[in-house]
Amino acid sequence: MSEASYDAVVVGAGPNGLVAANLLADKGWSVLVLEAQPTTGGAVRSSEDVQPGFIHDTFSAFYPLAAASPTIRGLRLDEYGLRWRYAPAVLGHPMQDGNWALLHRDRHVTAELLDAQHAGDGDAWLELCGLWDHIGEPLVHALLTPFPPLRPGAHLLNALRRAGGLAAVRTLLTPAGDLARNHFGGEGARLLLAGNAGHADIPLDAPGSGVMGLLLAMLGQTVGFPVPEGGAGMLAAALERRFRERGGVVRCGAEVTRLGVEDGRVTEVRSRENDRIKVRRAVIADVAAPHLYGRLLDPADVPRRVAAGMKNFQLDPGTVKVDWALNEPIPWLTEPAYAPGTFHVADSVEQMTQSLSQVSAGVIPEAPFLLAGQMTTTDPTRSPAGTESVWAYTHVPQTVRRDAGPDGLCGRWDEEECQRFADRMQARIERLAPGFGSAVAARRVLGPHEFEALDANLIGGAIGGGTSQLHQQLVFRPVPGMGRAETGITGLFLGSASAHPGGGVHGAAGSNAGRAAILHDRFRWGGPSSGRRTA
Ligand SMILES: Cc1cc2nc3c(=O)[nH]c(=O)nc-3n(C[C@H](O)[C@H](O)[C@H](O)COP(=O)(O)OP(=O)(O)OC[C@H]3O[C@@H](n4cnc5c(N)ncnc54)[C@H](O)[C@@H]3O)c2cc1C
Repeated sequence: MSEASYDAVVVGAGPNGLVAANLLADKGWSVLVLEAQPTTGGAVRSSEDVQPGFIHDTFSAFYPLAAASPTIRGLRLDEYGLRWRYAPAVLGHPMQDGNWALLHRDRHVTAELLDAQHAGDGDAWLELCGLWDHIGEPLVHALLTPFPPLRPGAHLLNALRRAGGLAAVRTLLTPAGDLARNHFGGEGARLLLAGNAGHADIPLDAPGSGVMGLLLAMLGQTVGFPVPEGGAGMLAAALERRFRERGGVVRCGAEVTRLGVEDGRVTEVRSRENDRIKVRRAVIADVAAPHLYGRLLDPADVPRRVAAGMKNFQLDPGTVKVDWALNEPIPWLTEPAYAPGTFHVADSVEQMTQSLSQVSAGVIPEAPFLLAGQMTTTDPTRSPAGTESVWAYTHVPQTVRRDAGPDGLCGRWDEEECQRFADRMQARIERLAPGFGSAVAARRVLGPHEFEALDANLIGGAIGGGTSQLHQQLVFRPVPGMGRAETGITGLFLGSASAHPGGGVHGAAGSNAGRAAILHDRFRWGGPSSGRRTA
């Protein structure tokens, strides 16, 4: 057992924790980051575990949100080793008839390709780009700042007024499926918009899905879907390097098991090894809300309103992810005009909608909607020339009622169920790329249990820290009335994806928590925060 003291302790070295740690270190605070896993990064890690010579991202892979995030941009991670790489096309959707729907970084190329598939869709695409030109930046700022976003909100309102007023608001509120059908005549453009909405767990016929689809499609059009050269872990490594250069301390293999609270203020952090760390100013919890309030805090310390709200906290669905090391590029039935980094697999918008609705209803889809990546196409350092590092993931229900497919899976997600479901996923790609299976040199399958073992925040394989549906966003995240990093316990701030604005690698939850800690500390000491203070 050892005792130490710091101005701040950050629990968890995911991207949000590392962003918060950097902001506090920038203010001269002494900061300790405690991470349960052997390495930092949370769901931003990579390794050669699948096959030596092939780098696979264990979890997240493409980072449009990081590239657009004012906080992450402000950290100037290029000075700490981060280098973004881009695929020739941002996103592709191989279609039944052998055509591809392609989102190219150049909006005019995207429009031209879509117009060739269905006359008029090119202009319709450019019209959405025009709407984004007005509202994109204020919308991203409003989403990534603490709730309520007063100044960014005012900018957004002005921008919406200029972009067409209520008609623009209506477009944003329209569910993705309807937006795709109303706006475009061809299946290609519809698939691009709906597929981007399918990155969140919002059903495509529910409000919120449209703005998500538009957000990701238009980020693809503006900042692209970049990846860190050398693997996702390079992003986390840059955050860690920056933090250490400012005197920050990181301890891995250090699971926090209890936060000590005295008179309503967090005062101590205890680890599994029974280390006790005294905290002078703040604790930032890069921890899933159910674990923060249900495990790390004594129930008697959790404010009653928060405890009541947490009873209705809703996770997002589980996930099954497959990584493949291919000894050749994917043998697509038809080569796309521009090779995409990400690709989506669904026969139609209708099938995508059905697959996502089945997951919400507790049904394992027969034809799962796949989100996938060609990593060597995007970053040639990921595997030897002439090979491809590939992944695909899909969502599965947290509680399984039945399997709509032929395998009778019941949601145990043991090795056998995961492998059978991975076969189902692989067969979806094989139809579009005959010979895919025989190009596989190695395959790894990660199911809900593996995800949770590798990162405790991924409860049951939930990748977003809780559902992104409207009823748990903004002022409802993680419980009604919050929407901010404050927890109701003085000095303790929630800085994980369970906090506003939710999942994704944008660092906003960590930034909100770090800034809230600094602000509260300033009020506590009655003046501007002035560098290192030792008690
Ligand atoms: C399979 C998958 C694919 C994804 N794809 C993308 C993508 O392509 N692009 C994108 O932007 N986002 C993607 N995401 C989402 C994104 O990765 C997460 O939203 C993001 O990592 C959340 O960051 P975080 O810091 O809140 O939590 P995490 O990244 O989960 O990190 C939390 C950290 O805290 C540690 N921790 C938890 N409890 C404790 C404790 N008690 N003591 C010590 N340490 C603790 C964990 O070990 C972990 O390291 C994906 C996620 C997954 C799982």
